[in-house]
Amino acid sequence: MAENTPASTPAFPCPRCGKPSRWSGNPSRPFCSERCKLIDLGAWAAEEYRVPLKQGRDFTDEAPDYED
Ligand SMILES: [Zn+2]
Repeated sequence: MAENTPASTPAFPCPRCGKPSRWSGNPSRPFCSERCKLIDLGAWAAEEYRVPLKQGRDFTDEAPDYED
Protein backbone atom coordinates (compact mmCIF):
# COMPACT_ATOMS: atom_id res chain seq x y z
CA MET A 1 0.00 0.00 0.00
CA ALA A 2 2.19 2.84 -1.21
CA GLU A 3 -0.19 5.69 -0.73
CA ASN A 4 2.37 8.31 -1.55
CA THR A 5 2.80 7.01 -5.05
CA PRO A 6 0.32 8.99 -7.15
CA ALA A 7 0.39 6.49 -9.97
CA SER A 8 -0.90 3.78 -7.68
CA THR A 9 -3.80 5.85 -6.42
CA PRO A 10 -7.06 4.98 -8.12
CA ALA A 11 -8.96 7.77 -9.77
CA PHE A 12 -12.37 8.63 -8.42
CA PRO A 13 -15.14 10.71 -9.90
CA CYS A 14 -15.52 14.15 -8.41
CA PRO A 15 -18.89 14.27 -6.61
CA ARG A 16 -19.45 17.68 -8.11
CA CYS A 17 -18.48 17.46 -11.77
CA GLY A 18 -17.81 13.75 -12.17
CA LYS A 19 -14.36 14.35 -13.53
CA PRO A 20 -11.90 11.62 -12.63
CA SER A 21 -9.58 12.85 -9.95
CA ARG A 22 -7.11 11.43 -7.49
CA TRP A 23 -6.94 11.33 -3.75
CA SER A 24 -3.22 11.50 -3.48
CA GLY A 25 -1.95 15.00 -2.79
CA ASN A 26 -5.40 16.41 -3.35
CA PRO A 27 -6.31 18.89 -0.60
CA SER A 28 -9.81 19.28 -2.01
CA ARG A 29 -10.77 15.65 -1.95
CA PRO A 30 -13.17 14.12 -2.48
CA PHE A 31 -13.59 16.90 -5.00
CA CYS A 32 -11.31 17.31 -7.99
CA SER A 33 -10.50 20.87 -7.11
CA GLU A 34 -10.98 23.59 -4.57
CA ARG A 35 -13.48 25.17 -6.92
CA CYS A 36 -15.69 22.10 -7.07
CA LYS A 37 -15.47 21.84 -3.32
CA LEU A 38 -16.63 25.41 -2.85
CA ILE A 39 -19.35 25.05 -5.47
CA ASP A 40 -20.63 21.94 -3.79
CA LEU A 41 -20.64 23.53 -0.36
CA GLY A 42 -22.41 26.55 -1.78
CA ALA A 43 -24.99 24.40 -3.53
CA TRP A 44 -25.56 22.46 -0.38
CA ALA A 45 -26.12 25.63 1.61
CA ALA A 46 -28.40 27.02 -1.06
CA GLU A 47 -30.37 23.81 -1.02
CA GLU A 48 -30.92 24.23 2.68
CA TYR A 49 -32.60 27.52 2.00
CA ARG A 50 -34.60 26.16 -0.88
CA VAL A 51 -36.16 23.30 1.04
CA PRO A 52 -39.73 24.15 1.93
CA LEU A 53 -40.21 24.15 5.66
CA LYS A 54 -43.49 22.30 5.59
CA GLN A 55 -42.52 19.27 3.55
CA GLY A 56 -39.67 17.09 2.51
CA ARG A 57 -38.20 17.10 5.94
CA ASP A 58 -38.52 14.82 8.88
CA PHE A 59 -38.90 17.34 11.59
CA THR A 60 -42.55 17.65 12.37
CA ASP A 61 -41.87 19.41 15.60
CA GLU A 62 -42.42 22.85 14.30
CA ALA A 63 -45.40 24.88 15.35
CA PRO A 64 -48.50 24.09 13.38
CA ASP A 65 -50.00 26.61 11.08
CA TYR A 66 -52.86 28.40 12.63
CA GLU A 67 -55.80 28.73 10.35
CA ASP A 68 -57.90 31.75 10.93
ZN1 LIG B 1 -14.89 18.49 -9.91
